Amino acid sequence: MAQSPDTEVRAGLLERLEKGTVLGAEGYLFELERRGYLKSGPYVPEVVLDFPDAVRELHREFLRAGAEVMVAFTYYGHREKMRLIGREDDLEPLNRDALRLAREVASEGDALVAGNICNTWAYDKDDAERSGAVVRAMYEEQVGWAIEEGADLIIAETMDYLGEALIATEVVKAAGLPAVVTFASTSDITIDGVEFDEASKRLEDAGADVVGLNCSRGPGTMLPILERVRAAVSCHVAAQPVPYHTTPKEPTFVGLRAEDGSRAFPIALDPFTCTRFEMADFALAARDLGVGFIGICCGGAPHHVRSMAEALGREVPASRYSPDISLHPVLGENIQEKEKRLYNWE
Ligand SMILES: [Zn+2]
Repeated sequence: MAQSPDTEVRAGLLERLEKGTVLGAEGYLFELERRGYLKSGPYVPEVVLDFPDAVRELHREFLRAGAEVMVAFTYYGHREKMRLIGREDDLEPLNRDALRLAREVASEGDALVAGNICNTWAYDKDDAERSGAVVRAMYEEQVGWAIEEGADLIIAETMDYLGEALIATEVVKAAGLPAVVTFASTSDITIDGVEFDEASKRLEDAGADVVGLNCSRGPGTMLPILERVRAAVSCHVAAQPVPYHTTPKEPTFVGLRAEDGSRAFPIALDPFTCTRFEMADFALAARDLGVGFIGICCGGAPHHVRSMAEALGREVPASRYSPDISLHPVLGENIQEKEKRLYNWE
């Protein structure tokens, strides 16, 4: 007997990973902030309720650029953050609407829908039992809404604590969905003091289907940690870096400094932005390391994702408009004749 459509879809992520690379795309917070729909500072995704068309459009741009997972924009859409901005009553509508928007656009292509939970700022490693119960309740309500709205998987991301990441893993697995659980490596170890390879192994042992890193580090400083994570686990590995030029001296984007010494994070990072070509190189390097789920985080935009998709050998809807510099009026192949005509060169 055929599986129900629901079951077929839910098996989708792991089936796709068995066959090859799965391309993700995130960065909704930064991109919608740049577009004027979201406030930097609190970074709460009120835009889901206030300007759903803006969210729909960005989903669509990522889909056209080759993203295979539409991530519901519930990042920081949890009780703690909604309380901070005085919109706790909107918590459930925001979560449900975000899932519906992601589903609507995913259906325009062949994409999966991911529910999204993240670091809560409520977890306290020195009071793990009490704070862990608060975190668990926050995750359970968000994952519950995501399941009711038909999520195919849950991405739990930007985790700073192994303890919090384990709670996320347990909640997602108890709900029966594939769990992608990734750490934001703001320092060389988790805040509760565990190396990322060891922490990733602990997540795998707890049932996570995909483990790895997202946010915080650019390609250059994420790849070495990914290599260690890859060696430590036997499950699939995910990598969603920020597209910024982080360095051994400043390995995370939070630490990047402008020439005058001022902090570039979070709204003056533009000079550090990776080109689409650099992100394409990252996609290939990650694939060659054995990373199966490759994406992008804060700062990412559709042009990055399209180049990553094309580097991985794909033609995507937006490839129709991929660059052809040979047709450029000045830089194209006829440049010499143009120069002659423009500048009266002989
Ligand atoms: Zn991010």
